[in-house]
Parts: sequence; C-alpha cells; structure tokens
Amino acid sequence: MLPAPVLEQARDELSDWRGSGMSVMEISHRSKAFMAVAEEAEALLRELLGVPANYKVLFLQGGATGQFAAIPLNLASLDSTVDYLNTGAWSKKAIGEARRHVGTVNVAADEAPSGYTTVPDPQRLQLSAGAAYLHYTPNETIGGVEFPYLPASGAVPLVADMSSTILSRPIDVAKFGLIYAGAQKNLGPAGLTVVIVREDLIGKARPGIPSVWDYKAMADEGSMLNTPPTFAWYFAGLVLRWLKAQGGLAAIGARNQAKAQLLYGAIDASGFYSNPVAKPARSWMNVPFTLRDPALDKSFLTAAQAAGLTNLAGHRSVGGMRASLYNAMPHEGVAALVAFMQDFQRRHG
Ligand code: PMP
Repeated sequence: MLPAPVLEQARDELSDWRGSGMSVMEISHRSKAFMAVAEEAEALLRELLGVPANYKVLFLQGGATGQFAAIPLNLASLDSTVDYLNTGAWSKKAIGEARRHVGTVNVAADEAPSGYTTVPDPQRLQLSAGAAYLHYTPNETIGGVEFPYLPASGAVPLVADMSSTILSRPIDVAKFGLIYAGAQKNLGPAGLTVVIVREDLIGKARPGIPSVWDYKAMADEGSMLNTPPTFAWYFAGLVLRWLKAQGGLAAIGARNQAKAQLLYGAIDASGFYSNPVAKPARSWMNVPFTLRDPALDKSFLTAAQAAGLTNLAGHRSVGGMRASLYNAMPHEGVAALVAFMQDFQRRHG
C-alpha cells in the first residue's frame, strides 16, 4: 500500500512534471532537474534514518534478491566464513544464494524446528570467529516474525535485510555494517533497491564481479553507473517527503505499534482466529492468522474482498490469511479489518 496523497501527486504531475511539459520518466537521469530529485531522496532517507556520514546510500536495481548475491560477492571471498540466522522463507533464500558464492555458510541459529514462529535466543547464537559478516532478516515478511533485539555480532559487520521493515520505526544505523531493502513495501514502487553500507566495507568486491553489482563502482558514480530506475527513485522521494510530514520515524513507529496491537489483541481475544508466532517475536508489519476452521478461509476472503478489505490471502507457501500493515495503512484500515473479523465470527463462529 502506498500513501494516497503520494499516489495523487504522482498522478497529477505524471504528464507535466514541475512545468516541464514532460513526465519525470521522460527527462534524462543526468539532467539537473533529475539530479535534484535524486539528491533530495537521498538526503531525506539519510535524515529520517539518521544515516551517519561514513555510510554510502546506494539506489540500485535487482531487488533484495540481487543483494542476496551481491552481499557475499562484495563482503566475502570464496574461502571466507559467513554467519546467517535462519528465521524463515527470506533468510532461507539468502542462505541458499550465499552458498553459491562462499565456501562456508554457517547457520548460526535455525528456527525451522519451531515452524519459523520464533527468533533465536540471543545468548545462543553459534557465531563463527572471524566471520566476514553476520546476516539476518529483522522482519520475515511471510512468517510475520520480527526480531525484538539486535543480534550482537561484536566486531563482525551486521548485515540486515530490512525489505519489509525499513522506515517502520527509528533504528540506530551505526549498529549495522550494511542494511538493504527492496523498495516495494515502505519506500515506493518495485524496481528500486536501497543499500546503506559502511564505507570501510566497500572496495573489496571480488575480481570479475559485474560492475553494476560492485558497491564501490556504484558509489563512485552516485548510483548512476547505468540508468537508474528514475520513476521509482522519484516516487521514493515523494514517499519520504510524506513520511517526514507524518512526523518522521518516531511518529510512524508509534502508529505502527498501535496498529499491530489492535489487530493482535483482537486475534488473541477471539478464540476463533489465531496467530502462531511467539508473542515477543510478532511482526508489526505482517500479521499472519488462521481461522479455527480452515474450511471457512474461502468465504472469509470472499466476504472481506466484498467489504473492500483486499490482499488478505496468506503467502502461497503457507496459506491462511496475512494482513500487511505497512506505513501507508491507516489506523482506520486496521479498525475496519477488526470490525469485519468480529462480524464474520458472529456469523460463522
Ligand atoms: N527479503 C524480504 C524480507 C522480502 O520481503 C522480500 C520480498 N517480499 C525479498 C527479500 C525479495 O525481494 P525482491 O522481490 O525485491 O527481490
């Protein structure tokens, strides 16, 4: 979900951007006008997240999936050891890709035995001495599992796939070596991938790596080694302006927490719906839930759709339902879902 005022602004200026008589998609990415758009988006992202000066912000393509490979190719060599925490579908994919590029991928904690409904005990991570980095997924989008703590990696750079949690609340960027995110949840349309990387970690890419995947090559060119996804970059800038006007990450974080509490509270009180995730590890962004009788799933989804509550089917790999409460979802949207769920229970419970 994207913020309605942002969609409206993008629509209004689609064919005549700032009086140019053209769309922002039709101007050169190297023009002064687009460079200003690009710089403003980076400045806003830095301001909102409090990105320290010794970090580069890269605007890339290839999605978070591209980064699953780019990270080992930039930060590790074939004979390195890298640590990964396995907490669900997305960490598992990241691990699979790392195995193609690094000799030793150590799974320092594996939550598969809980059916991916938990995060590891912070005291029991089996970290490797001298790992090139520790990778984890702060928010598992499909399982709805979120870390309530930062893994302590010591001097080893902490690498985080923040695709489904970036900009949902304040974070301390200085605790991370690298943060990456596909834009398509809290930042804008698909097609843009943001990488925030500490400067001392770049410039060590493997020989032979394609330049578009080399952080140093991209950083040196201001992420314009080749044509960037200009529309997605522009759109992200509008979303970031909107976020700032909402009061920034502290304000949006409080709102996101309240939205999640409202929905989990209703699920837990119902005796009809349930969420399988251990309470301290429940995601603010993605709330999977099941009905007591799965035979009702179809009628639940159909009735919800008819009530204007869409995109509630769980991921195809897990089934059930999933409500995503990204930044642009207003509190009233969650309240409407809760009212619908209570009404459905009255009719079918
Ligand atoms: N990581 C996480 C946590 C995700 O939620 C997603 C997409 N839903 C991905 C990685 C993959 O992102 P992309 O499709 O941009 O490659």
